[in-house]
Amino acid sequence: MNHEGEGKMTKRSTVHARPSKDFIEALRARIRGRLLTREDTEYDAARAVYNAMIQRWPGAIAQVDDVADVIACVNAAREAGVLVAVRGGGHNAGGLGVVDGGLVVDLRGLRGIRVDPQARTVRVDGGATWGEVDHATHPFGLATPCGIISSTGVGGLTLGGGSGYLTRSCGLTIDNLISADVVLADGRMVTTSADEYTDLFWALRGGGGNFGIVTSFLFRAHPVSRVIGGPTFWGLEQAEDALRGFQELIESAPEELGGFFAFLVVPPVAPFPEALHGRKVAGVVWCHTGPQESFDQIVNPLISAVPPLLHAPQELPYPALQSFFDPLYPAGLQWYWRADFMGKFTEEAIREHVRWGGTLPTGHSTLHLYPLNGAAARVGAGETAYRHRDAFWSQVIVGVDPDPGKTEVLRDWTIGYYDALHPYSRGAAYVNFMMDEGADRIRSTYGANYDRLVAIKRQYDPGNFFRVNQNVPPAL
Ligand SMILES: Cc1cc2nc3c(=O)[nH]c(=O)nc-3n(C[C@H](O)[C@H](O)[C@H](O)COP(=O)(O)OP(=O)(O)OC[C@H]3O[C@@H](n4cnc5c(N)ncnc54)[C@H](O)[C@@H]3O)c2cc1C
Repeated sequence: MNHEGEGKMTKRSTVHARPSKDFIEALRARIRGRLLTREDTEYDAARAVYNAMIQRWPGAIAQVDDVADVIACVNAAREAGVLVAVRGGGHNAGGLGVVDGGLVVDLRGLRGIRVDPQARTVRVDGGATWGEVDHATHPFGLATPCGIISSTGVGGLTLGGGSGYLTRSCGLTIDNLISADVVLADGRMVTTSADEYTDLFWALRGGGGNFGIVTSFLFRAHPVSRVIGGPTFWGLEQAEDALRGFQELIESAPEELGGFFAFLVVPPVAPFPEALHGRKVAGVVWCHTGPQESFDQIVNPLISAVPPLLHAPQELPYPALQSFFDPLYPAGLQWYWRADFMGKFTEEAIREHVRWGGTLPTGHSTLHLYPLNGAAARVGAGETAYRHRDAFWSQVIVGVDPDPGKTEVLRDWTIGYYDALHPYSRGAAYVNFMMDEGADRIRSTYGANYDRLVAIKRQYDPGNFFRVNQNVPPAL
């Protein structure tokens, strides 16, 4: 098992040219956006990514203004042999939005969003965050399924798959992708959809940043406006019953019910009751798109059978639930990640979860289990690059803390927990929950889809220009 962590990515830059003075001057003259280097006071803020465990120093950072800037960056870097990292929201676990010595193409200047309420679609530029999308769609009573923290980038989350509160009812984010504009490694821009560049469209839906820079996404949006959302917490002594009960409930619950299971430390802030502050608990954060009565009908049998410490779901606007955890997880914390796709848990696996869930090393560390049954599971395993649609859970374990001195504690706990549960897994993980874990992990994640991805990579990026990602090299 490969336990290499965040450090290996740096090696990729060593065979590439650093951006020279001439390169920087020429590119600066070609783009409308800013090109930052170490000499600029904004450089340090611009190189920082969400996970502060990742510290890298690019040779230059292009804060692009438009698609023409993106094309200029791709052409200049390809011609000069400069390694490129593409940065969307900067949330990636392994810091794939930044690279030592190379050029970062920072897409945050591309944030335009346009909702078409009649067609129920939303067009989103490649550097937007999901909070910005929710803000734009909510006034129209619409939402596109995405993740659970609003500062996450649309680009990275979508290209990896995208799971969250609406996965059971509306599918993965990629299941709602209608088309995408992509700048390819040769500098051409193409529009890809179910009708155009269909192989590329297949690969983009789960294949990550391997195939080009997406400057615009067109998504389907769903009539989701107010939801029943919020947490239920159980004491650890009830955690086995709670996990078993949630698994049974979610296996057959109507798809309008979503939510995830967690082990967490109750944050010492309102609205959580003071008596629970700092307590380790098992919990579910619910998201129900139907009325209160149907939520109660579905969930109350579990609440009666396993009485919780807190049961606080309430009706609220969908974007409020989407940003519920934002204040608890600001940018700049230390994060160590491990993930797996899991089948239904056996009694033994449930016991193992509870054993580790009780040892959360810090207040921010957590385990999340996202159910994948429902709409996402109705799409065939070969229909998109994202393969493991028959998994019951997408599991992610994160050791998190503000203190850089705790790195080892976070790493050891995360890996210990992961190792204990890995034997019960599918041997593969959601790419967006992985750090830099080696080629075998990437292969197993794509499974039988891997060879087709390689063939498409060979066609669109034979030189592996886009390699700062969960890389699918163009040769088997
Ligand atoms: C706190 C937190 C919560 C999360 N919750 C969820 C969740 O609920 N559901 C979920 O599915 N995932 C979740 N994730 C994982 C998330 O999907 C990944 O971290 C994802 O990579 C973030 O995308 P980004 O654009 O912010 O990242 P970045 O670090 O900017 O980029 C990540 C990768 O995507 C590529 N990329 C980004 N934008 C583009 C683009 N426009 N074109 C081409 N390539 C691009 C980059 O090159 C890089 O390889 C979460 C992550 C964090 C940190």
